[in-house]
Amino acid sequence: MTEKILIANRGEIALRILRACRELGISTVAVHSEADRDLKHVRLADESVCIGPAASTDSYLQIPNIISAAEVTDAVAIHPGYGFLSENADFAERVESSGFAFIGPKPETIRLMGDKIRAIEAMKKTGVPCVPGSDGPLGHNKERTLQLAKEIGYPVIIKASGGGGGRGMRVVYSEATLLNAISLTRTEAGAAFGNDTVYMEKFLENPRHVEFQVLADQHGNAIHLYERDCSMQRRHQKVVEEAPAPGITEEQRRMMGERCAEACRRIGYRGAGTFEFLYENGEFYFIEMNTRIQVEHPVTEMITGVDIIKEQILIAAGEKLSYRQEDIQIRGHAIECRINAEDPDNFMPSPGVITQFHPAGGPGIRLDTHIYNGYRVPPYYDSMIGKLIAHGSDRNAALARMRTALSEMVIDGIKTNIPLQERILQDAGFGAGEVNIHYLEKKLGL
Ligand code: ADP
Repeated sequence: MTEKILIANRGEIALRILRACRELGISTVAVHSEADRDLKHVRLADESVCIGPAASTDSYLQIPNIISAAEVTDAVAIHPGYGFLSENADFAERVESSGFAFIGPKPETIRLMGDKIRAIEAMKKTGVPCVPGSDGPLGHNKERTLQLAKEIGYPVIIKASGGGGGRGMRVVYSEATLLNAISLTRTEAGAAFGNDTVYMEKFLENPRHVEFQVLADQHGNAIHLYERDCSMQRRHQKVVEEAPAPGITEEQRRMMGERCAEACRRIGYRGAGTFEFLYENGEFYFIEMNTRIQVEHPVTEMITGVDIIKEQILIAAGEKLSYRQEDIQIRGHAIECRINAEDPDNFMPSPGVITQFHPAGGPGIRLDTHIYNGYRVPPYYDSMIGKLIAHGSDRNAALARMRTALSEMVIDGIKTNIPLQERILQDAGFGAGEVNIHYLEKKLGL
């Protein structure tokens, strides 16, 4: 069994990982930047190592510093959390070649999924449904490209194979602008990702975002934990997530979940992962796989009772999955609101000292956060400071609990998006469920 884990992250997810380690009786090493000495998990960890100045490029993204910290503390495994180096295949490779276990998939799997064209190819082979498209990179033959777009049907979207974080994409509504859009996307992708390969897909106009959580061990076992709906987004950033997804039939969720689990078996996937789909007119279209723990994992934990982080750790230690597929039952409904340190009107980050903090509580409420009274939110990192999760016997019960919980939350000294979350929770369209990915920006005039 793993004796000591180094947590290569910060904030709420570092604390979440630390809690899982403690429950498993595993010692912890926190690594932190100079600006993060006062993080809650740094104080709670058995050991801590400062890995550099505030800027994440000098600390949380410094592979050699993290490896050195693991060496001097005798850590056995490294958990990357989300963001930062979590989907960096070179990091995973360095971790393993230095003799540590990487709590995540094999480096070659991360590399495969980071290349969208290869990922789509691999998914198609395993029977996961994909968006109709160019089936590979776009070449330089203009006639063929125009013909292809005509066959797919406008609008189409040009995407960079190496893209990520919502960047490197361009929607094209008519033939007149197609070739120009392709060359612009190529140029931008070359500059931003060092890879100017682009491909073309049908642009779905009003899809929902529905994703499936999977777990796979190193013995060929893979299960799915059903789906989440993350359609409430602003600028491709998820704002509210829920599980299960409203309006999906029992048969659909079983069939799609099983296809994802089967894809894991076929590609030899290891660890936790998420298959992201666009869902429109009753059909699922694969867009990408995330090879790490996701921010929104708690809604799945609340409805299934599975501790996904613990499973990640056990899988990395070579254990078999603790569950079979038939053990996984959906119980009730869960919703997560991301709490950000930002101005609810203009979304500007709002760092500073938290002068008063009163967390929400009560039945079915879970709050994953690292903040405390007197904590200073630094200006250097992502503005998310916590996640409020409500679980209820059904969607309406979860919504009611979330409204009550939001009304109880007090975070003074900085601005937060809690007023925005309250507006969303009062919105009739969201209340009815089944909104698409443009809903938040359109309806709430954002
Ligand atoms: P990234 O890796 O940058 O997050 P994704 O492929 O996951 O890129 O796409 C990000 C977002 O772009 C999706 O959540 C969706 O909103 C939009 N998008 C991507 N592909 C399509 C498509 N074929 N049709 C409509 N929207 C799309």
